[in-house]
Amino acid sequence: MTQFSPYWWKDQAQYNNSDDVPKKADIVIVGAGYTGLSAALTLSQAGRSVVVLDAEAIGFGASTRNGGMLGSGHKISTDQALRQYGSKIAAQIHEEANASLAFTTNLIKENNIDCELQICGRLRTAWTPQDQIEMSKNLEKLKAIENFNSNMIEPELMPNSIKTDLYFGGQLYEDHGAVHPYKFHYGLLQLALNAGAKVFGKSLVSKVKPVSKDSDVGFKVFTSNTIVQCNQVLMATNGYTRPSLSKNLSRRILPIPSYIITTKDIGVGRVQSLLPGGHCMVETRKRYCYYRATPCGRRIMLGTRAAMHSITPEQALPTLRKMLIEIFPSLIDVEISHCWTGYTGFSFSKLPSLGENQGIYYALGYCGNGVAMAPYLGHKAALKLLQPSVNHTVFEKTPLLTRPYYYGRPWFLSFVSAIFMGHDLLDNYRRKRSLKKI
Ligand SMILES: Cc1cc2nc3c(=O)[nH]c(=O)nc-3n(C[C@H](O)[C@H](O)[C@H](O)COP(=O)(O)OP(=O)(O)OC[C@H]3O[C@@H](n4cnc5c(N)ncnc54)[C@H](O)[C@@H]3O)c2cc1C
Repeated sequence: MTQFSPYWWKDQAQYNNSDDVPKKADIVIVGAGYTGLSAALTLSQAGRSVVVLDAEAIGFGASTRNGGMLGSGHKISTDQALRQYGSKIAAQIHEEANASLAFTTNLIKENNIDCELQICGRLRTAWTPQDQIEMSKNLEKLKAIENFNSNMIEPELMPNSIKTDLYFGGQLYEDHGAVHPYKFHYGLLQLALNAGAKVFGKSLVSKVKPVSKDSDVGFKVFTSNTIVQCNQVLMATNGYTRPSLSKNLSRRILPIPSYIITTKDIGVGRVQSLLPGGHCMVETRKRYCYYRATPCGRRIMLGTRAAMHSITPEQALPTLRKMLIEIFPSLIDVEISHCWTGYTGFSFSKLPSLGENQGIYYALGYCGNGVAMAPYLGHKAALKLLQPSVNHTVFEKTPLLTRPYYYGRPWFLSFVSAIFMGHDLLDNYRRKRSLKKI
């Protein structure tokens, strides 16, 4: 029987804070995912009193639901970044992608966070020969900005990494890794608590109200049962940002669901025969699949956008299963043990952003790439709160944009789902045409 909850949540330690939420703090952080906890850690270490409030159980959001793929990279190409922001900022965007991976890997290693970190590499697999050519060109441009440990894999060498004939080569990111996302979140939570942060679940923030300039308090933060007075506020709500909390932010962040399945235990030998390289895998096709072995090495986990709009995991399961079998036909009879969903937070610029609106700071917009980037930007957000006049990251120069008629409820996503089906057809047509030429 498939369970419709995250595989990662099975048998994990829980933290509940039964203390009363303090009435005063230097800083209130809304959202207790990687961003909020990382910011809380840095701020507490700097001697600030910090209260982190989450609407649900601590870690309810994407931070304990994701695929656990730890990597760098953005959703826009070097050329797009160059066109939009100019050469200097485009270069910094790439450099900080690398910096985010180094930051989070070090955070885990230096603090001995027990989260089953493996530096297993990530292979981006080419759906068409053209994708392989474009990846190769983009890699050259990125390396010219700042060298990093990544190489193209020729099609004939792909069997060393994966047992499928679906792909036309790939790009291997050697320093990328994999974690158990729940354990990483729990480890980060323990670090923040040990540094002095106070973290509370079941504390939905309904309003953040600026207090008059004459007062020594900056804001009042309202939850269902208390009010916290503080000097500064950081919004760390990413894909869970809703208009009821911030009209401004929710107009700028799209909550896009992603869906994941995990097979039942199929044994280490079978997993290794399907994924002999042991890498995390991500495809180039528009509705891309990402997949990996679970940390025990006995199951395969696969995620994709079964739909762009929100559907239930029960509805998503057939699409996910179909995509798994397309990659690994031998898994046709294998039972799916878990299927679940969570919200990624997409910005219209397709880049993360750290900024401030009416005195309230925010760090979000990871576009599905937050395992390394969210702890990094949370840390940078903390530095910004400590020293507002200094620029701490290039993502202060990638402002959040909005679109007409978007007020935080993405009514158009079911149309986008239909467009994605069109992309699937196009991707498959391009593939078939390339196969005929071979
Ligand atoms: C299914 C899935 C797979 C993914 N896979 C990967 C991957 O393999 N690699 C990768 O790099 N990234 C991945 N991501 C993205 C990554 O998980 C996120 O970018 C990252 O976890 C964002 O962290 P966060 O702390 O900013 O937000 P979240 O972890 O989403 O936390 C936001 C929190 O804000 C809280 N909140 C919202 N509103 C309020 C309110 N009014 N009051 C109080 N609290 C509130 C929510 O309850 C939530 O807990 C994936 C995401 C999903 C959903």
